[in-house]
Amino acid sequence: MDVFEKLKILTDGAKYDVACTSSGVDRKASPGGIGSSEACGICHSFAGDGRCISLLKVLMSNACVYDCQYCVNRRSNDTPRATFTPRELAELTINFYRRNYIEGLFLSSGVVKNPDYTCEQMIEALRLLREEYRFSGYIHAKAIPGADSALLSRLGLLADRMSVNIELPSQASLKLLAPDKTKHSILAPMGFIQSGIRENSTDIVRYRHAPKFVPAGQSTQMIIGATPETDYQILNLTESLYKKYTLKRVFFSAYMPVADNPLLPAPATKPPLLREHRLYQADWLLRFYGFTAGELLDERHQSFNQYIDPKCNWALNHMQYYPMEVNRAPYEDLLRVPGIGVNSAKRIITARRMGSLDFTALKKLGVVLKRAQYFILCNGRTTEGLKISQDAVLRAMMSEKELGMYYHNMPLHDEPEQLSMFAPPPLTQEDIQKCLTGQI
Ligand code: SF4
Repeated sequence: MDVFEKLKILTDGAKYDVACTSSGVDRKASPGGIGSSEACGICHSFAGDGRCISLLKVLMSNACVYDCQYCVNRRSNDTPRATFTPRELAELTINFYRRNYIEGLFLSSGVVKNPDYTCEQMIEALRLLREEYRFSGYIHAKAIPGADSALLSRLGLLADRMSVNIELPSQASLKLLAPDKTKHSILAPMGFIQSGIRENSTDIVRYRHAPKFVPAGQSTQMIIGATPETDYQILNLTESLYKKYTLKRVFFSAYMPVADNPLLPAPATKPPLLREHRLYQADWLLRFYGFTAGELLDERHQSFNQYIDPKCNWALNHMQYYPMEVNRAPYEDLLRVPGIGVNSAKRIITARRMGSLDFTALKKLGVVLKRAQYFILCNGRTTEGLKISQDAVLRAMMSEKELGMYYHNMPLHDEPEQLSMFAPPPLTQEDIQKCLTGQI
């Protein structure tokens, strides 16, 4: 099989992995070397048909000896198999880089023979790239669960970012669908990488030229919708992963049916993209807005509201905290106002040192008044002429599309119908209750 035939198979096999976005690392080319990695991030990938190539996302091999039921590369699946040699992969990457096709590499792999052997092959490919071809571009390497920690150490010195996929949100699901993996085999390398990063940061302070270990941190990926775990369970797990393993990102991947298996959603099931989107919004709230998982969902409300984003949903259910005086509210409280983001909250704090702010000033600072005006006061006043009713607030919280879908009584993950040109009728009390409780 020629190398381009392999490339086609192995880029196609890697397309389900979403655990890669920005690089988060700055590294200039070494003298005589090639490539540099910028903190601004790389977030495209190389599709099997050759489109959109900024990051070459590829597998070392898809000849996997494991049999994870949700995976297209599982042992029992009848699919073409291919494996790169380390030199083939290194040459391909450097040649693509020289032609300006890509800016970095995302390397994952099925388990060939065993985790250690697979990891050794990946190390050799990256070693060739870094040492022989002097490639200084961004590399994201997937750690193979079960590989020896000495091998992970070597991989971590060659890669910028590493990730270990948690795959499924509970041990029970993992046992059922990925019998070759265990919670321990996933969490142990995560813990190892975390302590490696911590130790390395001390070394770098002490010795300026100490080699960097996973300088862009580690991330993970979770499959959403393949198993029955609720948003509440997923968000709690996400929160504990951030706390325990100082992950840079937890990625969510809406499950795309790849197998006709009674344990999994039917092949015709659409990927739960809206659910994935709501989880990303909530993840943002955990990382930058000071929310905890327990504030966004609880035992009684285990799923996100389809129609309203999690921050608005929280605000609508905690109206006792509003309206909030924008000229006095602390930064942490401003972050909880719909329509005020991290940047606008910071700008408010800085700007109000010079004098009190009015609605015109807030608009200039980037506040989305269409939403925020229902939750704030400027010098004790609301926007002039503003009528506050639940109907008006809900309309402000929902996008045109969400409102249209609501009126057509459609689940939001379906394709939208052509919306009416005429304004929809007011929401009834029953509509409002449904919206607030997230019922379809
Ligand atoms: S280990 Fe499991 S998820 Fe990874 S490639 Fe093999 S079958 Fe797929």
